[in-house]
Amino acid sequence: MTHNSKRKLVIFLTIDCLRPDHLRINKYHRNTAPNLEKFVKNGVSFSNAIANGPETSSSFSSIFTSILPYLNGDFSPLPNQKITFPQVLNENKIICYGIHSNPNLGRFFNYHRGFDIFLDSLELNHEIDIKKKGDMSGKKPLMIKELIMNHISKFLRNIIFKKIFFKIINHLARCEKIRSILNNIDFLRDNITLINRKEFTASYIVKKLINFIENFNSTRSLFIWAHFMDVHWPYNPPLKNLLKFRKNSIDANESDFLLNNLFWSHKNQMTPEMLNKLIDLYDGEINYVDEQLGKLFNYLIKRFKKHCLIIITADHGESFYEHKFLSHGGQVYDELLRVPLFIIELGKKPKIKRISEMVQLMDIAPTILDYFGVIIPNLFQGRNLFPIMQDREINRKDFVISESYQKAGRFRRNSKLGYKIFSIRKKTWKYIYDEEKNEEYLYNLIEDQGEKINLIKQNSNLVDEFRDIKNKHLQSIIESNEKSKIMHAIRGLNIKI
Ligand SMILES: [Zn+2]
Repeated sequence: MTHNSKRKLVIFLTIDCLRPDHLRINKYHRNTAPNLEKFVKNGVSFSNAIANGPETSSSFSSIFTSILPYLNGDFSPLPNQKITFPQVLNENKIICYGIHSNPNLGRFFNYHRGFDIFLDSLELNHEIDIKKKGDMSGKKPLMIKELIMNHISKFLRNIIFKKIFFKIINHLARCEKIRSILNNIDFLRDNITLINRKEFTASYIVKKLINFIENFNSTRSLFIWAHFMDVHWPYNPPLKNLLKFRKNSIDANESDFLLNNLFWSHKNQMTPEMLNKLIDLYDGEINYVDEQLGKLFNYLIKRFKKHCLIIITADHGESFYEHKFLSHGGQVYDELLRVPLFIIELGKKPKIKRISEMVQLMDIAPTILDYFGVIIPNLFQGRNLFPIMQDREINRKDFVISESYQKAGRFRRNSKLGYKIFSIRKKTWKYIYDEEKNEEYLYNLIEDQGEKINLIKQNSNLVDEFRDIKNKHLQSIIESNEKSKIMHAIRGLNIKI
């Protein structure tokens, strides 16, 4: 990598819930993303990229801080003592622009830090389209407490109230002290994430990006992060994208049933036909995002001949009932942890086009810093990917940890609200620890890609190796959290460190 003083542009595109095995480049039977596949032919494709968390909050905390989610004071909200890579870029005079509409990644959860411009879902200049909830008949009767909470939730989701409510929250969240108080209210936090995640469609984001780049005339380098929510539940693609994968449309009542009742409450009623319809809808959303990304790629190719790096990935995958689960979070199987990862440098032909070595999403931050010629902080655990891309890496990573919290199969934000669930994966083997059940699992990823046969009782030597890594990791969580409490206290006293 040459580190010259010329102006550089990095565009980091993240697509929520995009599974790599739903791309033809990875042998999927459908051509879901032709524009993406054409564009990434000029770059490097990582076929073994792993998310460090199975859902948005844990995964993005490791993407932004290059530290495992459990370390240095958990991950949601992002603690102040965890420095994000946009903060490091900003300290180095690189302009940072962010746009997305995932509430988990909004300023309320501290993701705005380091950005000069940060358009998140709390910017309420846009109409919010709330998806109508489906017919709830057949659902078990709610307890009184649930009923009350349900009504309050409904009230919060009311469009007029929400506009005012979130405008106030947005305003208050600009003050760090108030934000930290609000962040401690579980109910408020959970409801903030209930607002519609698709406020910014891919079409809207791409238009905003092209417009911003076109009018950007600073002499400083620029970092852009755009996150796309379209592939996230509720899958609701435009009809023309859906019809690429099926002969007819799915009527509103049926898709409402699939995406609401079945998806959340009646998974046990799942039939293969229903599952196929859900997958058709999901693939339609991928195709829609791809169509919009095609416009961005065409623009970038015409506009930049060099000094432009584009990184494309997903924060995690999506479950389609492989382990009796839909959506994401709560489990750490490969349908959630495997992600696509592409790195394209305009005007440069890569040395290697496809890299099968195991890499992780926390490697992205040091890679971006290196491209800008910025020193990578010692705290960052990820590896710069450029040496691997240039075939000069000598220290191979021998295991990757992915982790989150869950309770009864559902994602929880932190250690106070849920139990640890994490995986340690090596090239051939994957070990899972479920704190709630106090159970361990061991899978052979070569012979059993679906992670169905638990071999924990048959490989005692191997299990000992994984337990050793697990115990060291648990110990480092305790130590790093003690350290981070001190860091937090020092920052509170305004002492420069
Ligand atoms: Zn996500």
